[in-house]
Amino acid sequence: MERKKTRPVWLGSVQVGGGAPISVQSMTNTDTRNIAATVEQINKLAAAGCEIVRVAVPDMEAADALSLIKDQINIPLVADIHFDYRLALAALDKGVDGLRINPGNIGGRERVLEIAAAAKARKVPIRIGVNAGSLEKDLLDEYGKPTASALVESALREICLLEEVGFFDLKVSVKSSDVPMMLEAYQMLSEKTDYPLHLGVTEAGTLRSGAVKSSVGIGILLSKGIGDTIRVSLTGNPLEEVRVGYDILKSLGLRARGIELISCPTCARTQIDLIKIAGEIEERLEGITAPLKIAVMGCVVNGPLEAKNADLGVAGGKGTGLIFRQGKVIRSVQEKELVSELIREAKQLAAQTAI
Ligand code: SF4
Repeated sequence: MERKKTRPVWLGSVQVGGGAPISVQSMTNTDTRNIAATVEQINKLAAAGCEIVRVAVPDMEAADALSLIKDQINIPLVADIHFDYRLALAALDKGVDGLRINPGNIGGRERVLEIAAAAKARKVPIRIGVNAGSLEKDLLDEYGKPTASALVESALREICLLEEVGFFDLKVSVKSSDVPMMLEAYQMLSEKTDYPLHLGVTEAGTLRSGAVKSSVGIGILLSKGIGDTIRVSLTGNPLEEVRVGYDILKSLGLRARGIELISCPTCARTQIDLIKIAGEIEERLEGITAPLKIAVMGCVVNGPLEAKNADLGVAGGKGTGLIFRQGKVIRSVQEKELVSELIREAKQLAAQTAI
């Protein structure tokens, strides 16, 4: 699919927009003032593939923690600022790689311009993060409630303000927990600006509902070529946000990382415990970063072809499974050995791919 051309911005060494691979972001849910816990979570997120991380900066103590956090991590750090522009200035002083400000609550024009001047001096990009839950009062009065047009107007107003003072190092988001609204808002915004867009469904929900809403919202936009970086927002462990983010990108063929599992839903023809086998394989191969397509199929109806077309596959039989590796049958193994055999083969393939 053809992607919309946007301007590039850099958060540290990570390019967003301008044709760069779509990056996966997340946000910590530790107390930023607890430096050890925040660093530990960021490093786990990075190991899972998170490429940009955002931390909330609710007060000066959290802002003061940023430089020590940054010293102990290897991915760009973005400070998420609401209400108090002085926190944005402090975060810049502490060396963050990006700022997220919310036009609805950061204060007036002068405050925003002060942040822009400080960010420009340090070459730090700003994300204008519009959120349907915190729109400016005058827009709520004008539109009566949050709408796609109100979200876009809020974003464009802030873009104009920053452009007026020569600040162009921007990315933009117009998030809503309502998927049709965010879809409309991002599509409208994409027609009106070429700044890179950070996609997300805000407050999307718990693991299952949030993953579904995010996949629909983010996935539809990406399939239209819109979007440069994504954050899946889940009520839960942020590691899941990263996993779901990659799953969305992998399902659209936009990124390749780790295991892509193809597994059948099982039916009356299944004669092995396929659900358990597929779950174990997914869990035990979580740490693999080399892109590998693994098909775990219950029987000979669709099994052999799916298994043949994957890097590694199994087509189940009666208490047995036929293992395929790169299109060829390599052996038949008993059900109790299937998981360990597939893991062994997958690790071998991953090691070869990594070389
Ligand atoms: Fe059923 Fe076979 Fe299809 Fe799996 S692959 S759902 S076992 S028919």
